[in-house]
Amino acid sequence: MFTSTSPGRALDKCSDTPIEAWEPFYDSSPEYFEGQFFRNNLGSFVFTSGHKRILADTGYGPHGEMLGYPAPGELIADFKMNGIGLDSITDVFLTHLHGDHVGSNLREDLPDRPLSFPKARYRVHEADWKHFTTDALDLMDGETELAPGVTAFPTPGHMSLLIASRNERALLVGDILGSPMQATETDFHYSPDLDGPMGITARRDILDRAEREGALVIGSHFSYPGWGAIIRWEGRRYWKAL
Ligand SMILES: [Zn+2]
Repeated sequence: MFTSTSPGRALDKCSDTPIEAWEPFYDSSPEYFEGQFFRNNLGSFVFTSGHKRILADTGYGPHGEMLGYPAPGELIADFKMNGIGLDSITDVFLTHLHGDHVGSNLREDLPDRPLSFPKARYRVHEADWKHFTTDALDLMDGETELAPGVTAFPTPGHMSLLIASRNERALLVGDILGSPMQATETDFHYSPDLDGPMGITARRDILDRAEREGALVIGSHFSYPGWGAIIRWEGRRYWKAL
């Protein structure tokens, strides 16, 4: 799997939880804090299954928006640097349609802004459809197999992915967890959660499932490279980067 991330910096208002409440994590997740600011990654993930090459989320993009912090995304450059052809992507899977997850869908740097991944099916949850005016997207409303071992399933406000290979599993969870700290403090609010209580329930559900199934958890805003294991330490749950 290949990961591309662009660092973003978000004002502390990206959470209704007071900044002091995050202090216990200053030591365990120092890369997430810069004074009164959060720093997080805007991650995209590429993986292959059979003849499919799937890109999950397209990050910030050259003109995306991330809570008021303008910085260009690096996905297209990362593709080039890693020798991955843009036309080799068969599916672009979008967990949801926030600006920091769809920023490289189009080549903003080219005239007429063509699709960045011209041979891909762009796949998104039906409920997000109304945000788009192009008919180039494939809508999903329930569990959908994208490729052998790669299954999209609905989670509140999202689609998530179950990626299974032999006896290994991973859950790609988009923004259900906005940071690794929320694996420990599921009640901490994250501003993209339009429905706070539902966000908490969604976090608990996906973490319970990951523990039950021994699945890795991949988050768009987790520390590079963005995937890790759920571990228990002194009875509390933590996300540990791998
Ligand atoms: Zn996000």
